[in-house]
Amino acid sequence: MLTVNQMQKTIGSDPKKVLDGWNVHIHEGDMIGVVGPSGSGKSTLLRCLALRDSWTNGNFTLGGDVIIDGGGKGKRKFRSQFAYLEQNPELYPQKSALKNVLIGQAGQTDQFRRMIGMVRSDDYMGAMDELEKFGLLDKAHVKAAHLSGGEKQRVAICRALVHGANFIAVDEPVIGLDKFSAEKVLSTLRDLCKEQKKTVIAVLPLEYAEKYCTRLWGIYEGRLQWDVSGRRLTAEEKQFL
Ligand code: ADP
Ligand code: MG
Repeated sequence: MLTVNQMQKTIGSDPKKVLDGWNVHIHEGDMIGVVGPSGSGKSTLLRCLALRDSWTNGNFTLGGDVIIDGGGKGKRKFRSQFAYLEQNPELYPQKSALKNVLIGQAGQTDQFRRMIGMVRSDDYMGAMDELEKFGLLDKAHVKAAHLSGGEKQRVAICRALVHGANFIAVDEPVIGLDKFSAEKVLSTLRDLCKEQKKTVIAVLPLEYAEKYCTRLWGIYEGRLQWDVSGRRLTAEEKQFL
């Protein structure tokens, strides 16, 4: 279980808090849909929870391990367990989708082995399995430069999974996708939570969040307005969206 205690985030010298008053528990297998108006702090929330942005204050624990104590970006050794997938993430443009999944992100341990091309066959199979689940089998050998933003994001999800991420924060994964592709991506993420006890937190339009997520967070001006599990939203809860 992840525990967020008094998480706060300010950006630059602006004293206004982008995130404030966050106290939540996140469980293995949770699929959390984040909804809220533009500028409410959704992307910042995902980056903070995925250890990509530093916290201004607060504590973050994973089981008995302290990841963040009083602010900061978290201890490096935890970082590979957390993934933040933005729309249009950076990939190696001249390498195929498959190579990008196998190589992983710059700066990760094991990078040398992968750079020199020493890929184990089980790595290869695992990478192809993930690409297939996300509907990208026909893109495996296409250069990343030729993929759409959404396809790149899914390649990056596969990459994170292959390299051991348990906590997947994904920002607006269905923007620009047709309904069929959107449902495929979301049902794949849902299966990861159900079957492998991964934790997914995704910024989604409300109709998809209600259909696929086990839990919904409403965010307004950087604060958690409600945290709802196992039901749809009431008219009152929908008010500020
Ligand atoms: P959302 O994803 O809900 O649209 P964001 O997390 O992107 O919201 O932004 C939340 C608030 O933080 C906004 O007011 C935005 O202007 C501000 N913000 C985000 N990133 C930066 C930054 N790098 N510098 C200054 N302000 C930022
Ligand atoms: Mg955003």
